[in-house]
Amino acid sequence: MKNVSDSPAATAEAAHEECVELVAKATIPTRYGVFESHVYRVKSTGAEHLTLVMGDVAHGESVLCRLHSECVTGDVFGSYRCDCGEQLDLAMRYIAAENRGILLYLRGHEGRGIGLANKIRAYALQEQGYDTVDANLHLGLPDDAREYDSAAAILRALDVRSVRLMSNNPSKFDTLLKHDIPVCERVALAIPVREENERYIKTKQVRFGHYFDENE
Ligand SMILES: [Zn+2]
Repeated sequence: MKNVSDSPAATAEAAHEECVELVAKATIPTRYGVFESHVYRVKSTGAEHLTLVMGDVAHGESVLCRLHSECVTGDVFGSYRCDCGEQLDLAMRYIAAENRGILLYLRGHEGRGIGLANKIRAYALQEQGYDTVDANLHLGLPDDAREYDSAAAILRALDVRSVRLMSNNPSKFDTLLKHDIPVCERVALAIPVREENERYIKTKQVRFGHYFDENE
């Protein structure tokens, strides 16, 4: 498989792309439509991130984009302890509605980077009254261990010029800007607040400075 740094897009940006390599690609038909999928491996960690691309994202500006952190409980099983599954579904539907966009599915981001077992341990602590940040700290773990540098490198490898980012997480905006990928708009993913995830969503706003998108 050709290394991404060999692609025509990689010239002055080669330094950014060196942290990831393209290792596989194929078409994936989904219930949202047909996507071109790519797997990029992060050289330093071995994590394999999946990208789902619809339409031509290498030409023109303002590509609808979601950087989605892996969450097996939310994404696969529809857990209401978080809002990941519903955000993923909405992002896919928004991309399909425009027939153009890109979803990066960031593996190794489970539980904000602490892994599945630790995430479930943190849930157990939350049942005792800890919030999502204090539960991680009580376990001796960082409150957020995720990095988005490799996501930025993948966007550059795909020659994405600027994005409309579907997110309420300021860290993602900061990282893309740091890598000279302009974010020309924030697209809200308004998820209904439920009894089960109300405290989690409130904690994200208060302790991580996340934007709040009121569901209409
Ligand atoms: Zn989740």
